[in-house]
Amino acid sequence: MLELIKKYHPNQGASQQARVISLFSLVGMSMTFLMGAISFLGSDNALTVVLFLASLTYLLSFLFVKRLNVSVSANLIIYSLYLLMFYLVFSGGVSQTGPLWIFIVAPVSVYVLGLRQGIMNLLIFLFVISAIMFMPQSLIAHAAYSNEFKIRLILSFLTMSFLSALYEHLRMLSYKNALEISRQYQQLAMRDPLTKLANRRNAAAILEQEKARLQRNNEPLSVLLCDLDHFKSVNDKYGHNAGDMVLTELSALFTEQVRQQDCVARWGGEEFLIILPQTTSEQAGVIAEKIRSSVENHTLQFLDNKIQVTISIGISQLSQDQTIDELINNADKCLYQAKTLGRNRVHP
Ligand code: GH3
Ligand code: MG
Ligand code: MG
Repeated sequence: MLELIKKYHPNQGASQQARVISLFSLVGMSMTFLMGAISFLGSDNALTVVLFLASLTYLLSFLFVKRLNVSVSANLIIYSLYLLMFYLVFSGGVSQTGPLWIFIVAPVSVYVLGLRQGIMNLLIFLFVISAIMFMPQSLIAHAAYSNEFKIRLILSFLTMSFLSALYEHLRMLSYKNALEISRQYQQLAMRDPLTKLANRRNAAAILEQEKARLQRNNEPLSVLLCDLDHFKSVNDKYGHNAGDMVLTELSALFTEQVRQQDCVARWGGEEFLIILPQTTSEQAGVIAEKIRSSVENHTLQFLDNKIQVTISIGISQLSQDQTIDELINNADKCLYQAKTLGRNRVHP
């Protein structure tokens, strides 16, 4: 789900960003080409050349977006857009309508560059636009605008920038929110709700991963399959809530007994699987015995009742060419042996 959200979020996943940049390039290319053609018919040669050059830049950006780094294409789009806007404000464009186009700079900047860099760029952009408009004609001849027009253009551009930044901020907030929710769902999907241990599906995935990693390095992997003895009678005698408490407390006890790199998972109702990477079956036997005796010596308290439980453990070491299913089946057979031999014991 996390991957799904990242993939479809406009500013995340590289492929999605590349698609957005392609779209911007296409729109920019078409619009500047159209305006260039109109300007050509109106025989404004300088403007025609600038617009066709801009159109060519967007075409290049469109063609290269997949091959170039996406951020290179994004910068190409943004800065060619800025240059075009500077020229339109400087020259006035067709009948002094050039400045009308600067409003597209605000949403495109914060969208493509992100909130922080987008705002910085907008401030610099506005500074340059203002400098062009207020530059004395005696310095360089350029399009003349009334003071009322200049002030209103700056104020409306500021308003547009603020709204674009606010929109981008809210968009990022909801994106982070969606990521957090998806992270929580992922946790829920991987954890057993009662004991908070890894669930069976998660344990199976970890086993496959560890198998690949350890076999590459020619290192051993062992598992312990633990089953509570006569657990049904605990439920029958003390109630289901007491049974739940036993499962939760024993989960913590198992976790305390193993190393950081090991994984304790709830494999079934009252069955736990302990994954022991870099551990031979002999070493696993020592750990299993430690766990068995710690359970035997642990007294659980539920309301006024003192509950004593024991566990049986089957051990299996992964051999070459063995599948995870075969490994677990082997551990299950050992567990069955431990049960038939009288329970509260470890069977290798
Ligand atoms: P054995 O020594 O042969 O394993 O006997 P057992 O009674 O432990 O085995 P059995 O398979 O007959 O019963 C398992 C019991 O575990 C029955 C079921 O109610 C209980 N159980 C399974 N999951 C839970 C749970 O989440 N909470 C509680 N309280 N009990 C559970
Ligand atoms: Mg069982
Ligand atoms: Mg049992």
